[in-house]
Amino acid sequence: MPFLHDTFPTLAQTLPHVSLGDGPTPVRPLDSLGFSSEVWVKDESVFGNGGWGGNKVRKLEWIIPDVSRLGKDTMLTVGGIGTHWGLAAALYGHEHGLRTVLAMTDQPIDDHVRDQQRRLKASPATLHYLHTQRRLKLATPVLMARYARKRSLPYYLPAGGSSAVGALGYVETALEIAAQVAAGELPEPAYLVSAVGSGGTAAGLALGLRLAGLKTRVIGIVVNDVFPLDAPMIADLATETELLLRDRGAGLPDVDLGPDDVDMRLAWLGKTYGDPTPLALETLALARDKEGLELEPVYTAKALGAIRDLDAQGFFADGPVLFLHTHGPRSDV
Ligand SMILES: *Cc1c(COP(=O)(O)O)cnc(C)c1O
Repeated sequence: MPFLHDTFPTLAQTLPHVSLGDGPTPVRPLDSLGFSSEVWVKDESVFGNGGWGGNKVRKLEWIIPDVSRLGKDTMLTVGGIGTHWGLAAALYGHEHGLRTVLAMTDQPIDDHVRDQQRRLKASPATLHYLHTQRRLKLATPVLMARYARKRSLPYYLPAGGSSAVGALGYVETALEIAAQVAAGELPEPAYLVSAVGSGGTAAGLALGLRLAGLKTRVIGIVVNDVFPLDAPMIADLATETELLLRDRGAGLPDVDLGPDDVDMRLAWLGKTYGDPTPLALETLALARDKEGLELEPVYTAKALGAIRDLDAQGFFADGPVLFLHTHGPRSDV
């Protein structure tokens, strides 16, 4: 049973969930990277039973049943040509009888993006290449109409699946982290560091950590220059998610998340989304060699690179750091 249903029993009736992976995902200390602070990793890469893992699968556990609840059978969503989100939606949606239509924009091409494109083309997704943000914006209503069935529009999802429903995946994960802390598997983190693309992960975590009564502060390493999210936007999505839970009848404690509750950092973005910074590439190699962690250059290597810099600056004086490893290259799909 998800922690959200266990903690707020009314939600078991009002907020459907499908299990797409097995939690809790493991936590372990990162001892071999030369940190002066205590740094742990929570490995979300192993979450997901459908041939692809990582943070997007957490969101789909709440999104897929919401699509079905509304009687729809098609999801329409947007992303870069290497979108992790689009791939996860296509694979897990297909398993649940849902079609995924992806409208995509260009991003810098490297080996990682080439691999993603190959996976996307082999996936059940219907792909549309729009190249620029402007063309994407203009095409979206056209595609919504094209894929409507019996006057029912597709279920639209913003980039990264970062709707309030999607963010529930990381409210759930924050409750899971709190249970790991309570069980003594992990010290209570003073900081939780995650890459931030579309914001659902950071927003869900910020809300969930607060609901769980932890003092952990979310530090978001922003990797997206197209929609560079700031603290007010993350706080707004967290509040929207809180309102969704209240609307479904959860008796939540008083939480009033504001921009001061999250910390968004732009310094590790590089030139653009997907631009592999030298620090990210170095961190990727180091994490693989010393810790056996399979990062990628777009998100997770930038986030762990930021932890290395912040650690060297003495930023983590208040206590343990938890790095959320959000990337999920499961079997070779
Ligand atoms: C999408 C993604 C993120 C960012 O999550 P958001 O909820 O979009 O901010 C981080 N890491 C990886 C590997 C991702 O694919």
